[in-house]
Amino acid sequence: MDSPKQTVNFGPGPAKLPRSVLLEIQKELVDYKGLGISVLEMSHRSSDFAKIINNAETLVRELLAVPDNYKVIFLQGGGCGQFSAVPFNLIGLKPGRCADYVVTGIWSAKAAEEAKKFGTVNMVLPKLGSYTKIPDPSTWNLNPEASYVYYCANETVHGVEFDFVPDVKGAVLVCDMSSNFLSRPVDVSKFGVIFAGAQKNVGPAGVTVVIVRDDLLEFALPECPSILEYKVQAASGSLYNTPPCFSIYVVGLVLEWIKNNGGAAAMKRLNTIKSQMIYEIIDNSQGFYVCPVEPRSRSMMNIPFRIGNAKGDEALEKRFLDKTLELNMLSLKGHRSVGGIRVSLYNAVTVEDVQKLAAFMRNFLEMHQL
Ligand SMILES: *Cc1c(COP(=O)(O)O)cnc(C)c1O
Repeated sequence: MDSPKQTVNFGPGPAKLPRSVLLEIQKELVDYKGLGISVLEMSHRSSDFAKIINNAETLVRELLAVPDNYKVIFLQGGGCGQFSAVPFNLIGLKPGRCADYVVTGIWSAKAAEEAKKFGTVNMVLPKLGSYTKIPDPSTWNLNPEASYVYYCANETVHGVEFDFVPDVKGAVLVCDMSSNFLSRPVDVSKFGVIFAGAQKNVGPAGVTVVIVRDDLLEFALPECPSILEYKVQAASGSLYNTPPCFSIYVVGLVLEWIKNNGGAAAMKRLNTIKSQMIYEIIDNSQGFYVCPVEPRSRSMMNIPFRIGNAKGDEALEKRFLDKTLELNMLSLKGHRSVGGIRVSLYNAVTVEDVQKLAAFMRNFLEMHQL
């Protein structure tokens, strides 16, 4: 079912939620399952909330086949909170307090910057002039003494996505999956820690899903704040302090929606179709639309492009954005650091939504390319 105005939200995050989920929230908002109160007013220690958070955890485990020797916890502080939590919990794993960071865009760059507060950061890649590719792993400079290897699976701003899990020779692998979590299946057993802010692909802002392997819970620095300590949060079932109850409830509904729609594999199929529609138009536009990202590293979730030429004709781009707004297609403006256009195609964005944009892009191309 579409919204009355046929509005399409291509926002980069917080992002579109499935309409059926919004309707479910609306239905249950004032009186949750006949309890006479809202989830918004419910004790986080109640048995009813226990069902809500256990259901969300069970669904994460089911949808990603999370092995039993991993904890799934729900934390606050967003993806950026994890930029601190990861070194707090893991940089002490080896005596040198060193960590490897694979920087492929601004989010991994930010994480590396934060980690410098806690120890030595080894930059695995030479500084890239622009973030448009993932350099071949054979060229990576990994430090065997590093406590962990960190990377970002999908750089939301630049549209650079890993289509493989790096082989780090048994080192502890940590991954920021904020903007592609559950957009495709992933082999959790290859990771030490996976984290994802919910507001891109699996829910509203306010909660971050963290999946952490049991044997990594013992290495937090003594000064690690308790609310960021994985061991403390895992031991308390994410209830060390009041969690973001409502956000966790909505995450549960979104996960159920993913499950009912075929799970991570089905999401990948749809995300492939959706992103191919847009990339094909870009690649067949004879340089009118320009995506700077190397084909192998192109994201299924976020597609940045310029219009007119590789640097972007700002007048044309403004016309494009004005027209899309008139057609109720929202939030297509590129990130302020890169400009141009960015299309975000998270799970909740439908094939029909993308067809509407694709038709417009073809029209716009015809009108301006004479
Ligand atoms: C959005 C985003 C973040 C930051 O998340 P916050 O919840 O705003 O802290 C981190 N990493 C990636 C890949 C993101 O897309």
